[in-house]
Amino acid sequence: MYLLNISNSAIADSLKNRVFIHARSHPGEVPASFVVEGLVDYLLSGSPRAKQILKTTEYYIFPMHNVDGVITGNYRSTPQTENLEVMWFFDPENPIDLTADAAQEVNIVHDYAKNLMTDGGPAISMALNLHASNSEPDVRPFFFPHFGPESLGYDSLESSLWNRQLTFIASLASYYGVEMLEAVTEEGGSSFASKTYPESWWLANFSNEVMAITMEMTYGRAGYSPKWTSPWNLRDLGASLALGIDDYYNGDIDKSLLMQHKKVQGLKYPDLYPPNDLDELKN
Ligand SMILES: [Zn+2]
Repeated sequence: MYLLNISNSAIADSLKNRVFIHARSHPGEVPASFVVEGLVDYLLSGSPRAKQILKTTEYYIFPMHNVDGVITGNYRSTPQTENLEVMWFFDPENPIDLTADAAQEVNIVHDYAKNLMTDGGPAISMALNLHASNSEPDVRPFFFPHFGPESLGYDSLESSLWNRQLTFIASLASYYGVEMLEAVTEEGGSSFASKTYPESWWLANFSNEVMAITMEMTYGRAGYSPKWTSPWNLRDLGASLALGIDDYYNGDIDKSLLMQHKKVQGLKYPDLYPPNDLDELKN
């Protein structure tokens, strides 16, 4: 399993933000790899902005989490039929460590994350989990933000994590286009907290200090109707991700951007892509 560590090594890591990314836990979700490719290409482009980003940010990227699943040609699981996405099994009494049931691929990513959080360097402050959803053709890339605003009953800690997630999404939208991403729901809910997703582990151990979120690319037209989305569109999304992450840390973000756009109306294949399907909701 490869790990890409991208930064400017001439600058002390203690001065940088640490960003942790893993993709392809679900092996068939190829769009995530094009996004990683666009992100990495941008970071290594040598442009003045990219150089500046590498002075202030240290990237840790696992570009392909489920290597054996990819080689096998599976859509969602390892050759042992494990769904890595739900196997961050942690003991509630000692959540920093995973139990013996966790898959080896999860252990590798987990051990790296744990070590980076305890190695004396800066803490990871953003953890992205890249997927692709087999949604209706016109559904654009979207996110699974968690919790919600205090106005809907969330406490200050939960709403601060929610706000950070919205800040991140708005930062990305300011580059990729607010109309090119799905509308953000009014709240994300708390169900993930009692599950075993990567974000559940981050929350159990690091509360609102790590902005951990799943990002779902889509197939089909994905906002480019009447054209169909292409690998180049996804690489553009990856480049926008690099810029959005930089603004998340250093920019002045206008979250009202997110409130202006709407869900796709009149989906054509509700039977094939039930919007309330458990997989789509990540419940
Ligand atoms: Zn997935």
